[in-house]
Amino acid sequence: MKRFDVIVVGGGVAAGAVAGTLREELGSDRSIAVICGEPHVPYTRPGLTKQILRGERPETRALAHPPEWYPRHDVTVLTGETVVDVDRLGRTVRLAGRSLAYDTLVLATGAEPRRIPGPPQIDDRMHVIRSFEDAAEVREHLGTGIRWGVVGGGFIGAEFAASARMRGDDVVLAFPEETTMERALGPVAGSWVARRLAARGVDIRSGAGVTELAADGGRPVLLLDDGSREVVDRVIVGIGVTPQTGLAAQCRLDLAEGGVATDASFRTSDPHIFAIGDIAAWASPLHGGRRVRVEHVDTARAHGEHVARVIEGPDPGPFRELPYFFSGLGDWAFIEHVSVGSGGEGVRREGLDDDALSVAQIDDSGALVAMTAVGAPDDLDAARRILTGDPRPVMNRDRLATSSVPLDEAVSQHTTPTGG
Ligand SMILES: Cc1cc2nc3c(=O)[nH]c(=O)nc-3n(C[C@H](O)[C@H](O)[C@H](O)COP(=O)(O)OP(=O)(O)OC[C@H]3O[C@@H](n4cnc5c(N)ncnc54)[C@H](O)[C@@H]3O)c2cc1C
Repeated sequence: MKRFDVIVVGGGVAAGAVAGTLREELGSDRSIAVICGEPHVPYTRPGLTKQILRGERPETRALAHPPEWYPRHDVTVLTGETVVDVDRLGRTVRLAGRSLAYDTLVLATGAEPRRIPGPPQIDDRMHVIRSFEDAAEVREHLGTGIRWGVVGGGFIGAEFAASARMRGDDVVLAFPEETTMERALGPVAGSWVARRLAARGVDIRSGAGVTELAADGGRPVLLLDDGSREVVDRVIVGIGVTPQTGLAAQCRLDLAEGGVATDASFRTSDPHIFAIGDIAAWASPLHGGRRVRVEHVDTARAHGEHVARVIEGPDPGPFRELPYFFSGLGDWAFIEHVSVGSGGEGVRREGLDDDALSVAQIDDSGALVAMTAVGAPDDLDAARRILTGDPRPVMNRDRLATSSVPLDEAVSQHTTPTGG
């Protein structure tokens, strides 16, 4: 049986980062195999609702490394092959028809989109967007003047809606929350996004969840839980994802927060196995040691880089990178967000241009927990410093509400340490 020092299971950004960091940054000479269930070498997904979807950028731009990088760097990459089980005692993974042995195993199996039930006659008009193939199918119909029903107001739904409007299609966007991106950004920044989408012609149906689809003469019908129904041509379902924890569960690793429980260096309950990316629920020093799971691309990449350093040594210590994500609405808003938590009160920093946004999220004690920024890079930088500081300061709410006061100067006093 062939044996590798490191086997990485996954075909996303996290898997690509492990191999890339080991070979390019650390010059590791360990034997490495990357096993990708999809028929592609590892790639990143953000473009699938943005430039790649709209045909403005080729898929090759999303690859972590081009296919020829792997043989050139002596990394074995197996595409279109799925690991079906892990034998922890024998330290082997089983694929269809063969097994491979490992010294260290990294699980980077990502997440799969959730779906909603609908009648079979509209199966080919219901889409999720997670893979190159999903985006290619949707692209075929984008800009053909049809009416899209988008279920879910999170970043997939909002980004798709913006892309479809850019291409001149009609979009109805339905979701149960009060506003778009509410769970990720909070209501203040979320309603700014909703207003921008509405201004670009998206028909927003807030407070209207869709739990089921029907068919009307072959066209999908959204059954909204406010009692109304919307007949559309095609449906995009963007109602969140399910972390792919099947392998971890099969080999009885500890699970937490819907993902795989790890320590602050992504080591699972088996010291020879790491879990990273969307599936990792890591004990985060920045969150007071609490286990957190983040479904964002930069975090997944940073997990991969960190785990490569842990494997190669010397031990880089716990992972302390601040969760960051971006979202792009068409070519008219690039939203950035950093956080160590959610909830609390969103304070909009008044006085910026119409196209810019800065919202500081503060908790009950007045400490900053998150910042959403569009075209406000200074605020974002200051928020990074404040959120990674220990202790985290209490903010002065009045000064915070004025964008002419630099964020660092809107501090009123220091809190006790947050656990970092
Ligand atoms: C359309 C879209 C747009 C996005 N936009 C943004 C954005 O703007 N900003 C942002 O921060 N984040 C964005 N994200 C989220 C981001 O893409 C994810 O957080 C990221 O993909 C997670 O990377 P990952 O490597 O953990 O997993 P994934 O990218 O999900 O990759 C997991 C891979 O593992 C493979 N796999 C699973 N099980 C097995 C197995 N048993 N054997 C072999 N292979 C297996 C899967 O086939 C898949 O290829 C977006 C996601 C999508 C889908």
